[in-house]
Amino acid sequence: MLSDEEHADVVRDAHETIDAVMAYRAKTGASLDEAQKALPHPSADRYHKLTGFKLWTAYDVFYVRRSDYGRDCPDCGKPYRTPKAKFCAECGHGLPAK
Ligand SMILES: [Zn+2]
Repeated sequence: MLSDEEHADVVRDAHETIDAVMAYRAKTGASLDEAQKALPHPSADRYHKLTGFKLWTAYDVFYVRRSDYGRDCPDCGKPYRTPKAKFCAECGHGLPAK
């Protein structure tokens, strides 16, 4: 998972990759899979450098921003899954009403 600042850099790289894949496919007639294999993936490389984990496609970076999953549950330590969650989907721990 990435901070908002790290995520912005990775997403910028991903948009460049997606544009390059689309241009490559238009130019060569390659399939999506062929185009993704033929081109570099700077967003995946940046993510790997930051986290040590590899992403499968350029689109995966849109799901790795930590703030999208809410705060950690004080009971089990898992993310609440959304910033607006009222209870933990993992253990059922509820948040106090505001
Ligand atoms: Zn929990």
